[in-house]
Amino acid sequence: MLGDQLDASGPAFRGHRPGEARVLIVESDHALARLPFNGERRVLVIGAMRRFAADLRDAGWTVDLRRAPTLAEGVHAHAAEHQPDRVVMAHPTSRSGVALARRLGRQLPVPVEVREPAGFITAPGELDQVLGRRQPRMDTFYREMRLRLGILVDDHGRPEGGAWSMDKENRRPPPRSRDLGAPAPWLPPADDPLDRALRDEMAHLPRTGHGGQRVMAASAREAEQALDRFIEARLAGFGPHQDAMMDEDWAMSHPLLSGPLNLGILSPLRVARRVADALGDGAPVASVEGFVRQVIGWREYVWGWYWRREWRHANALEATGPVPAALTGGATRMRCVQVAWEGIDARGYSHHIQRLMVLGTLMLLRGTRPWAATRWFWAAHVDASAWVMAPNVVGMALFADGGQMMTKPYAASGAYINRMSDHCRTCPYDPKKATGPTACPFTTLYWDFLHRHRERLGHNPRMSLSMRNLDRRDDLSAIRLRAREVMGQLDEGTA
Ligand SMILES: Cc1cc2nc3c(=O)[nH]c(=O)nc-3n(C[C@H](O)[C@H](O)[C@H](O)COP(=O)(O)OP(=O)(O)OC[C@H]3O[C@@H](n4cnc5c(N)ncnc54)[C@H](O)[C@@H]3O)c2cc1C
Ligand code: SF4
Repeated sequence: MLGDQLDASGPAFRGHRPGEARVLIVESDHALARLPFNGERRVLVIGAMRRFAADLRDAGWTVDLRRAPTLAEGVHAHAAEHQPDRVVMAHPTSRSGVALARRLGRQLPVPVEVREPAGFITAPGELDQVLGRRQPRMDTFYREMRLRLGILVDDHGRPEGGAWSMDKENRRPPPRSRDLGAPAPWLPPADDPLDRALRDEMAHLPRTGHGGQRVMAASAREAEQALDRFIEARLAGFGPHQDAMMDEDWAMSHPLLSGPLNLGILSPLRVARRVADALGDGAPVASVEGFVRQVIGWREYVWGWYWRREWRHANALEATGPVPAALTGGATRMRCVQVAWEGIDARGYSHHIQRLMVLGTLMLLRGTRPWAATRWFWAAHVDASAWVMAPNVVGMALFADGGQMMTKPYAASGAYINRMSDHCRTCPYDPKKATGPTACPFTTLYWDFLHRHRERLGHNPRMSLSMRNLDRRDDLSAIRLRAREVMGQLDEGTA
């Protein structure tokens, strides 16, 4: 079992019964140490593997949970010790995992059977089947998925609530209160003994953040509790403020389910069906649709895109800059960035709109090298893995695939963050200003970005309004000067 396929009803278990097969789980030193991962990520992932092994043993399985320098060495050591007559595994979720499975197939003296992936509704390559000859766009894919799965569609194939997307209703700015006022999410006990032991055990590894708080479920039982809590208490409020950010509300109405989904301990189809069923119990259709779109739409779309192309070398905007120093130990006065960083530092979590419109947009506008950005996101967040990072960071946030996945870059000025958050109220910068010492770095860099990429993006019809607005500006020289200054400050950690 790979560490992100922790599902006892998954493909690798099919046809086997306890007592008839041995389950191998490898804790790889290399996988743990290859990036300065967030400490809470290691607590989540290794904790989930150990809890899964314990649950399997309770159910009568023989489990070989072993530590090894690399995954491959763990498999070889197991094979030498136990002499299996064949190896069965689910399709890995990354290209490097697929390559490893092939290598093992060549090296081991027994057959290696790779079955379908665990933890997804669609298989690699299925995105194109779902879309047929149509342009790969999320909305089209999502609609097909709803029809295929019969989720939120009536007997005539029409969307529940009268529209396929309730996005317009789900983009409200934050309320004027200190926080959203949503009931608290499910959280694991603060003094969980395994979490504590893992923090001690891995304290010597280089890491991102100071941690101390696991916020995502690390076993099937916990994942069920987290899902129940979300549906019962938080789903109703999920929709309207889905895109909003608040200084004093790190979780807003988000479900914190990406970790358990990506570890395989929670099934995406079950999650989507349970949330869709909540419609019958009175949950607002906009919230239910908004959530279902994330899971059977965005998550599967991103998974499909991972297999559609190579990501590592994509750099359509020819970005060569570093990750802003504020995110690698430096300081910043930018309130929106501070708040996102505080969440990562403490919990290894920032919510979607912080990832996309604060951290991602900052790196897009700064011109951070896409793969450096990807590695940073990977190390920073507890729920990261190869398939999810590459399309989200390289394709969605940085537009480094040249617009294959998204129709336009998510470039935005401070005006967007000002509308969708309360951060600007306590920030020394002014979101309306593009020049001068108090100009918001997002605003300055937004205009500079449009100017720098006028040739590349000018022909994109979805950018034409922005380009016309750029043409109307009579302070472009001052903006460009200020942009050079801001970039230097971002690189030094003084912005
Ligand atoms: C730059 C960037 C980096 C990201 N990195 C990760 C990552 O490392 N791991 C990860 O799981 N998600 C990632 N996402 C997607 C999304 O931000 C997270 O899934 C989400 O913030 C997790 O919080 P949540 O569980 O509270 O779910 P919500 O944001 O409220 O969404 C509900 C569920 O939908 C799924 N989902 C929604 N959007 C996406 C998406 N774009 N890609 C994949 N799944 C999605 C997740 O499983 C999530 O649990 C990233 C997005 C961006 C723009
Ligand atoms: S003014 Fe600019 S930097 Fe400050 S919080 Fe607003 S968007 Fe962020």
